[in-house]
Amino acid sequence: MTGSGPVIATRALVKHFGPVRAVDGIDLTVRRGEIYGFLGANGSGKTTTVRLLLGLVLATSGEIELFGRAMPRSAGDVLHRVGALVEGPAAYGHLSGTTNLMLLDASARLPAGPGSGGRGRAARRARVSEAMDVVGLGAVGRRRVSAYSLGMRQRLGIAAALLRQPELLVLDEPTNGLDPQGIREVRQLLVELNRTGTTILLSSHLLAEVEQLCTRIGLLDRGRLVLQDEVATLRAPTGRTLVVTPDADAAHALLDGRVATRAGDRLLVETTDAAALNARLVAAGIRVVELGPERRTLEEVVAARTRERQAGEVAR
Ligand code: ATP
Repeated sequence: MTGSGPVIATRALVKHFGPVRAVDGIDLTVRRGEIYGFLGANGSGKTTTVRLLLGLVLATSGEIELFGRAMPRSAGDVLHRVGALVEGPAAYGHLSGTTNLMLLDASARLPAGPGSGGRGRAARRARVSEAMDVVGLGAVGRRRVSAYSLGMRQRLGIAAALLRQPELLVLDEPTNGLDPQGIREVRQLLVELNRTGTTILLSSHLLAEVEQLCTRIGLLDRGRLVLQDEVATLRAPTGRTLVVTPDADAAHALLDGRVATRAGDRLLVETTDAAALNARLVAAGIRVVELGPERRTLEEVVAARTRERQAGEVAR
C-alpha cells in the first residue's frame, strides 16, 4: 500500500510493564516525507514506543499501523520497507565494517519485489558498498570496527538500517554519545536522506537538535503525547516585536504602554508591524541594534506546555 495516508499511525497505544505505564494511550501520526522528532525526557517512553512500532514488543492495548497495515500482524509485509536503529548499533568489533554489513545483509529477509537488488553476492556487495558510501564510511569499510570512533559506529548502524533502501527510517537517539562533528555529520546525512524521499522518525531528548532537523514534533511526557505539531507552527511569530537598543529608556518612554517586557537593552513590544516600529524609533533618534518579530524557541514552547500541564495537575 503506497497511498497518501500516514506512514505511521497509532491509536490509543498502551504498554504497561507491571505497574509502569511506559506508553499511556498515544495517537502518533507520521506523514510521508516528514522528519518527525519524537521528544521526551529519559524514561518518558520513547524507546518503548519505537519498539512497539517495530513489533519488538507487544502492546498492552491499542492499534499500530505502518504504511496503513496493522502491526504486528503485517510485520512480514511491511518491515522490509523500514530501516531501524534502536538502542545503539551492534557490530562485531573484530570484523570490518563492510564484512559486518555483508553478514547482516545475508541474514536479512529481503523482499522479492523490484528494487530489492537481488540476493547474489555481487548484488550484496554493491548494496553494502552503496550504504557505506551514503554514510561516508566508504574509505574505511575494510577497517576493523574496533578501530572505529563512536561516530563511525553510529553511522555504520545507520548504514545497516539503509541496506534495504527503506522508505521509513526509525532512529532512536541517533546522535547519542557523538561529538559535535559526529552530530553534524549524522544530521547532514539525515537531511540528505530525507531530501531523496526517506521519511524519518527520530527520537531524541535534545530539543535543539530536533529544532534544527525536524519538520514536526511529538512530545512525550510520562508515557503521554502532550504535544504534536509542525515546528513552523509552534515557532510562529508571537505577535510581539523584539527591539535591542542601547537607548532602552528613551525607547520605553516613546512606546509608552506598548512595551510588554524589558530586560536590559531588550524590549518586547506589542506589535506585528516591525517596519513601522523601526521607522518610529529611528525618527526619534533611537539607535536600533536589532529588531524583528519575536519567535519562541522549541525549548520555550515545551517549557510553557510543561508549566501548563503542571498547573493543570495541581488544579485537579
Ligand atoms: P531513555 O531515553 O532513557 O531510553 P525512554 O523515553 O526511551 O527513555 P523507555 O525506555 O521507553 O523511555 O522507558 C519508559 C518506562 O518504561 C521507564 O519507566 C522504564 O523503566 C520502563 N521500561 C522500559 N522497558 C521496560 C522493561 N522491559 N521492563 C520494565 N520496565 C520497562
